Amino acid sequence: MLQRDVAERFDLLVRGGLLIDGTGAPARPGDLGIRGGRIAAVGTVQGTADRVLDADGAVVAPGFVDIHTHYDAQVFWDRMLTISPWHGVTSVVMGNCGFGVAPTRPAHRDLVLRTLESVEGMSLEALRAGIGAAWPFESFAEFLAAIERRGTAINVGALVGHTPVRLWVMGEEATEREATDEEIGQMRGLVRDALRAGALGFATSKSPTHVGWAGRPVPSRIASWHEIETLAGCLGEAAGGVMQATIGPGLFLDQFAAIQERTHRPVSWTALLGGMLGPDGHRAVLERSAALQARGVRVIPQVSCRPLMVEFQLKAPFPLESMSVMKPVSQADLAGRRRLYADPAFRRALRERIDEGRIGAPFRDITITEHPPDPSVADRRLGDVAAERGVHPVDLALDLSLAADLETRFRMPILNTDPAIVAELLAHPATMIGLSDAGAHASQLCDACAPTELLGTWVRERGVLSLEEAVRRLTTQPAEVFGITDRGRLAPGLAADVTVFDPATVGCSPLRRVRDFPAGADRLVSDAHGIRAVVVNGVVVREDGRDTVDPAGPLPGRVLRGGRAS
Ligand SMILES: [Zn+2]
Repeated sequence: MLQRDVAERFDLLVRGGLLIDGTGAPARPGDLGIRGGRIAAVGTVQGTADRVLDADGAVVAPGFVDIHTHYDAQVFWDRMLTISPWHGVTSVVMGNCGFGVAPTRPAHRDLVLRTLESVEGMSLEALRAGIGAAWPFESFAEFLAAIERRGTAINVGALVGHTPVRLWVMGEEATEREATDEEIGQMRGLVRDALRAGALGFATSKSPTHVGWAGRPVPSRIASWHEIETLAGCLGEAAGGVMQATIGPGLFLDQFAAIQERTHRPVSWTALLGGMLGPDGHRAVLERSAALQARGVRVIPQVSCRPLMVEFQLKAPFPLESMSVMKPVSQADLAGRRRLYADPAFRRALRERIDEGRIGAPFRDITITEHPPDPSVADRRLGDVAAERGVHPVDLALDLSLAADLETRFRMPILNTDPAIVAELLAHPATMIGLSDAGAHASQLCDACAPTELLGTWVRERGVLSLEEAVRRLTTQPAEVFGITDRGRLAPGLAADVTVFDPATVGCSPLRRVRDFPAGADRLVSDAHGIRAVVVNGVVVREDGRDTVDPAGPLPGRVLRGGRAS
C-alpha cells in the first residue's frame, strides 16, 4: 500500500520543529498536525495539509497563558489584545486585583472608569472613547457575551472582581464602610452568578497602593475579613475557580491558607518581588509557601521576571526620599528644592550616596520618560545619556529637571532589581509567573512582554531556567492553577494554541511610545524578537512579527467560560 493512501489530511501542519509540550518533558524533534482548531497529531506526523508552517530550527510550544492582565476595558476597542500575541501569548486572564468592569450598573460606569484611571494608570479619555457611552453589558454574563460577540484574536478568561461587585451593591459607600450582612449576601449572589456564567474565579486587593477615584481606597480595601472569606467561599461551593489577590494589611499568607483550606481552591497572590520585604525577606515567604504546598495547601505567589517600576518627578522625589541625603529636600518647598538641586555640596553628597549604595545600579537604569525641553532624550536610559554626555547620572537628572522646572519625568526600577534574587524567585518550585499587568499602566510601563523576556534573558542569557521549564511556567502551570482545561499542552484533542519561536533570538525590545489608543492616548509597547508564528485555535494570527488576520474581520479567539471554550 502506498504511504499516500493512509496519509492524514490536516488544516495546518507545523513541520520540523523542536517540540516542547509544556509539561516540562524534554524537547524532541517532531511535527504538529492541526485539524478543526485542535491538535490532531504530535510527533512524527505523516500527512498533507492545506498549509504547512516550516518550523526548522524553531521551538514549537503551546501558546503562552498570561494569567495576570487588565484588558477588561481594552478588549472593547482592541480585538487583537495587543501586545500580548506579539509575545506568543494565546490566552489571557483579566479581572485581576479585583478591578473588573462587570458587573456594573449604568449609574456607576464613570466611577469604574475613574477607578481604572487611578489604579491602573489608564487614560480616562481613552477609556471613555474606547468603551463608548452605551456599555454593551451590565451583568458579568453579559460582559462575557459582549466580548464573544465582538471577537478577539486570542482567548480570554475573566475573574469576577471584588471592586465592581461591591460597587454594584453599595454604591459610593463601597469606598467608605464595611458592608452589612445583607449587603454581603447580595455580593455573594453576584459572585455566584459570575461563576455560573463562566468566571475563572474571584479577585480582590487590599494593597495600600490601590487608590481609586478622588483619592479614595478602592472598594475591596474596605472589606472586612468576614466579607472576603464569604465571597471566596463561593469558590468552595462551586467546587471550581481560583482566588487571585493583591496582598495588603490583613490579607497575606495566613488568610490565604485559611481560604484555601476552607474552599480547597488555589489562591494565587500578587506579587512576591525581590527586595519587597528587605534584602532576604523573600526567602521566608518561599519557605512558607513550599511548606504549605507540601501539605496540599495551594497558596502560590506570583513572581515576575521584570523589575517593578515607579514614575516620579524631582519636584516630588518619593522613591529617593528614604535616603538620608534627601532629608533637606523632603523638608523644603519647591523653591528650596530647586536651590538644593543646584547646590554643588548637595550634588556631591547625592552622587556619593548613589555610587556607594544599593540604589546605584537602579539609578543608572532610570528611564527619562518625558522631558519637554528636549524630547530626544525621552524613553532613553539615564545612564546611557549620561555616558554620552560625559556627566554623572545624578548631575544629568538634576540638570534636566532644573531646565524643565522640575517637570522632567523619570521611571525607576524599585523592586525586583537584583538579578540573583529574581533568579531565585523564578526558579523556585513554589512560585508561578504572573504580574505582566498587560493592559494596565499603559503610558507608564509595559510588562506584557514578560514571556519573551523570560525566554531571552532568563533562559538563554542567564541560564536560570531550562527551556522546557520556562515553557512549562508559561503554559501548563498557569493553565492548571487558573483552571484552564482545554489548552496549555501539546497533546492530541487539546485546542491548537501554538507558539513557534527561535530560541537563539527570542526576546523583547526596550519600550517605545506609540499613540494608538482611543482619543489619541499614548502607551508604551515592546516589540518581540524571534516569535515566528502564533496559532490560536488552529488559525495563524501572527507570523514573523506581523498580524496574519484582519483585525476587523473574523478572529479565532474564544471566551474561556469556566476555563474552556464553550
Ligand atoms: Zn494587577
